[in-house]
Amino acid sequence: MSDLLPHFQSVGSDLYSRGMVSVHGGNLSVRDDNSLVITRSGSRLGFLSESDLITTGVEKDDENTRLASSELQVHRAIYRQSLFKAIVHCHPVHATALSFLRHIIHPEDEGGKIFIPDVPIIGFGKEPQPGGAAEEIAEALKTHAVVVVHRHGSFARGMTLEEAYVITELLEISCRTLCLVKNLKTGL
Ligand SMILES: [Zn+2]
Repeated sequence: MSDLLPHFQSVGSDLYSRGMVSVHGGNLSVRDDNSLVITRSGSRLGFLSESDLITTGVEKDDENTRLASSELQVHRAIYRQSLFKAIVHCHPVHATALSFLRHIIHPEDEGGKIFIPDVPIIGFGKEPQPGGAAEEIAEALKTHAVVVVHRHGSFARGMTLEEAYVITELLEISCRTLCLVKNLKTGL
């Protein structure tokens, strides 16, 4: 699985440089049949190395499971319920801010309207927990490319990490635009 490292590094670096994760925030995974490769608990997405990639089971625990990201249960639930092969979880500021106030996000810019017209907010009004709402997130990702967990951050899925990243970036651009337009309207 060592050929995966450049993909993890590229996406992790893009997320960090664009401010969508703090130093130790967020996690990435790729599925291969009954196994998945996920970032290590506490790893720095902007500076990943081979030892930060943890291989464990989609269904079963093994000796590596305890090293995996605290969101492992969410990643597993998504893979159990779908055929997707990659997941990006991060904390995009504008999307997360909107999750405090809305049950669903409807982008109004053209890209967002076309590709992510409805973005569900998961667990609205509940206290977010690491690994929490796994089944609810997995269910929503069957029909939506990305969801946002209330007061926490986004989960995007795809067939590659790059695809899930593009969706995540699109979400944050759409949410930043929504926030700017709202501010401009209140200033007029
Ligand atoms: Zn998180």
